[in-house]
Amino acid sequence: MEKQETPGGSTALSGGFFAFAGTSLQASLGIADSANLLREDLIATSFGRAKTDLIDTYCNLQHELFEWFEEQGIHFSAVELSSGQSVARSHRTDAVSMLAKLRQRAEAPGDSMCSLLFRATLHLRHNAGYHTEQPNQADG
Ligand SMILES: Cc1cc2nc3c(=O)[nH]c(=O)nc-3n(C[C@H](O)[C@H](O)[C@H](O)COP(=O)(O)OP(=O)(O)OC[C@H]3O[C@@H](n4cnc5c(N)ncnc54)[C@H](O)[C@@H]3O)c2cc1C
Repeated sequence: MEKQETPGGSTALSGGFFAFAGTSLQASLGIADSANLLREDLIATSFGRAKTDLIDTYCNLQHELFEWFEEQGIHFSAVELSSGQSVARSHRTDAVSMLAKLRQRAEAPGDSMCSLLFRATLHLRHNAGYHTEQPNQADG
């Protein structure tokens, strides 16, 4: 399924900054932020041209993603101000180590990559208020 010998792609090259809003790390640094402010910033940065349903999906789920990363042992060491942000919300982690932890998690016994991704997708869709139809029994 992966084109390269080692998975990682652009993510492995990246600076490891994630735009999260309303996190415990921001609170500990006295930064007041929220999903609504993140949403406003994303819409303003795209001059209103970005798809708002995609922006809403990210804004509604990003805090849960931050917490899930922390549960996987992926920690964020700093928060920085990036362009287009009203407040500092670029959370820094080490991208290579993050990918290694995600890979380890995906390859854990009894947890194939497909089952992990499938369960994660169902979980996120459910929490975002989407209703997933049950597969038709006759389809196997
Ligand atoms: C130098 C640099 C710094 C960056 N810093 C940041 C940052 O700090 N914060 C941020 O938010 N963004 C940053 N970005 C952007 C960010 O890295 C990308 O937007 C993000 O990694 C894209 O993730 P992705 O999963 O879509 O693609 P990728 O991480 O590139 O993953 C795609 C995977 O699919 C594989 N693939 C491709 N084609 C096929 C095929 N036909 N068949 C099978 N497999 C295939 C690739 O080999 C790769 O493993 C940076 C980008 C660069 C280059």
